Amino acid sequence: MALRLGDGVREAIRAHGVETYPNECCGALIGRDGVVTATLALANMTEEGPRRRFLVRPQDYREAERRASELGAELLGFYHSHPDHPARPSQYDLDHAWPFFSYVIVSVKAGVPEGMTSWRLREDRSAFDAEDLTYAQHHTDSHPAAPLH
Ligand SMILES: [Zn+2]
Repeated sequence: MALRLGDGVREAIRAHGVETYPNECCGALIGRDGVVTATLALANMTEEGPRRRFLVRPQDYREAERRASELGAELLGFYHSHPDHPARPSQYDLDHAWPFFSYVIVSVKAGVPEGMTSWRLREDRSAFDAEDLTYAQHHTDSHPAAPLH
C-alpha cells in the first residue's frame, strides 16, 4: 500500500493544520489510483464545538463524496492534524476508522507542521498499518539553493 500526494497537496494539508492550531483540522483526500490530486477542507467548527478529536461525520462523508464526483475522481481517504502530538493514530482514531481509506496525519507542534504519515485500517480492524507516503516535488521548492559566495 502506498499513497502519493500530488502537487501542492502536502502543502495544503500542512497549511490547514497550522490554520486550525491548536484545534484539529480535518479534510478529505480526493484523487484516483493512489494519487491524491485535491483536498477538501472540512469545517473545523462542528455543532459540538471545535474539533478536538478526529471524527468524520456523515455530512462530512457526503460532502467529500459529492466533491470527488464533481471532480470525476474518488474519495481516497481523510487527513487530520495532531496538535502537539506525534503523527501516529490514537485509539480514538482506530475506533472510528473505516476500512479501504487512507488516513493521513500531520503533527503540528507549537503551530509548526512537522511529520506527516499515512495509515490503513487492518482488515480485522485491530490496528492501523503505516503505508508509504510520497510527495510530488512542489515546483516552488525545487529551485536549487543559491550557491554561497
Ligand atoms: Zn488523530
